Amino acid sequence: MKTPENNLETAISFSASAMVPTRHGDWEMSTFHDAQGVEHVCLTHGEVQDAEAVLCRFHSACMTGEIFGSSRCDCGEQLEAAFHRIQQAGRGVIVYLAQEGRGIGLTNKLRAYDVQNRGYDTVDANRALGLPDDLRSYDSANAILNLLGVKSVRLMTNNPDKLRSVREAGLLSEREPHLQPVGDLAQRYVRTKQHRMGHLNEGASDARPLFLTEFNSLLSAS
Ligand SMILES: [Zn+2]
Repeated sequence: MKTPENNLETAISFSASAMVPTRHGDWEMSTFHDAQGVEHVCLTHGEVQDAEAVLCRFHSACMTGEIFGSSRCDCGEQLEAAFHRIQQAGRGVIVYLAQEGRGIGLTNKLRAYDVQNRGYDTVDANRALGLPDDLRSYDSANAILNLLGVKSVRLMTNNPDKLRSVREAGLLSEREPHLQPVGDLAQRYVRTKQHRMGHLNEGASDARPLFLTEFNSLLSAS
């Protein structure tokens, strides 16, 4: 692991690491703590130090979807697909960020769920409660990539905020579309992210990657 060189890197510190055998092969799991003491997790598969165009997923924690199998979102499917795609590729990184409910926390997320159960979409539910649409930051994830010595990534995402953040950190090689097949309720959530939060929707996981130049023109057009 590299020595911290700038503020972004010193804002996060490495805590512990161990190999974890999983159904998707062996992964090196590490914990990091940010300046606020929040613990984030990183999982790497294969050798990623000094590597270019590493397959990568920034994934925000979703207890309801990933642990309890909530049908309301696509988080579990996206995480599972990221493990699978990286295992197939032979190397990659998953940064698992402690920002439940797009950053509003589990308690507020349940309040918003309750509003959604009365027919609101995720954006209107948050707004009805006076909560922001999306509070997430990807600075810690970029800092972790820097600490790992990853040179650039192919980011598996449909989220333009993630792409912008990784591009500004100088770490974006290209985007890999990351839409997964999900049930009707989660499909409504995916459509809300597309229609109201600008998420990209040009294809399923087998669509061709959107290259950086196309992404840049897409951003300047918006
Ligand atoms: Zn979720």
